[in-house]
Amino acid sequence: MAKQERDFYQRDEEEQASFLEQTWCNNCMEVDLGMTDPVEYEQDGVIMIEGKCKKCGETVTTELADEDDESEWID
Ligand SMILES: [Zn+2]
Repeated sequence: MAKQERDFYQRDEEEQASFLEQTWCNNCMEVDLGMTDPVEYEQDGVIMIEGKCKKCGETVTTELADEDDESEWID
């Protein structure tokens, strides 16, 4: 499926900061090492933030729970 780019920097600063801190690195096998160069995109209806691990430089990806669209019918 096509990736749809989103603008990570549209988020407020607190949100940006927490996403940059709350990471899981598959290479380091550690949480919250932090990431740099975040890129946000949507794929198959899932929002992802992809960046580089601050410790090892490998790609880290954070998957976000869907926040708008589909939450409507849960209410
Ligand atoms: Zn790492």
